[in-house]
Amino acid sequence: MPNPKQITRRDFLKLSGASLAASILGIRAPYLLPDETVDESGRIFWHGRRDQAQIALSYDDCHLVTKLQTLEEMLRERPEVKVTFFPTGEALLKTNDKDAGIWQRFVDGGHEIGSHTFDHVNPDVRSTKSLLDDHKKWLAALNHVTESRPTIRFGRPPFGSRSPAYSEMCATYGLISTMWSASWGGDLALAQKNMAEVEYGDIVLMHTSTQDVDINSPVAFDLLDERGIRAVTMSELYLASITEGLGSGNCGNLSYYGQTCPE
Ligand SMILES: [Zn+2]
Repeated sequence: MPNPKQITRRDFLKLSGASLAASILGIRAPYLLPDETVDESGRIFWHGRRDQAQIALSYDDCHLVTKLQTLEEMLRERPEVKVTFFPTGEALLKTNDKDAGIWQRFVDGGHEIGSHTFDHVNPDVRSTKSLLDDHKKWLAALNHVTESRPTIRFGRPPFGSRSPAYSEMCATYGLISTMWSASWGGDLALAQKNMAEVEYGDIVLMHTSTQDVDINSPVAFDLLDERGIRAVTMSELYLASITEGLGSGNCGNLSYYGQTCPE
């Protein structure tokens, strides 16, 4: 641990954020995060470590069941690629109605789900109470479409609007507000330019559109393959960010994604 007198307020906030996050993930040791991994609130995740060849691919909204099915097929052919979905609650229910069990299949395939609110209303125009109620509704939708009730650790605010009310909702539910450091969506030429500039630790934003799924995703998977960069879940990227000191003997006897504290 650094001497508390020598750490700045910014570092302290990071430390408390890491500590909170660590407790969510079942690890008791607080560690400083690598610089700029989180913002000053300590609860916003922008990207993972820049020194490990892994990134997190994320797909927002998820309204179109046909696009989810296409992605499912692609991911089945590439079992090494793991992704994180940020569906709205409405999308969870609607897509599951059309293809019962699709979300549980993603969970069973090792992919992750994060919240993106129930109805995608901009958090800037919502009260804390409205967002708390909304998340309850989102969780009910998730529980309706998944039997295993996966743990939800990450929330992505619609439109990237990290309002104070959204932060309060995240704090209440122990969610890590998750942004992105790269976008590989939209026009392929632009997406390819962005893909070429991939950095280790990136959190990549895409949507479940025809462009992003059918056209951009296969290009992205090939590029990651060529460069030897793993696509991991948000939890795995996050865990790597807060476990620099893993092995110091105070992370408990819990294991996570195959990584066990060496005590
Ligand atoms: Zn969205």
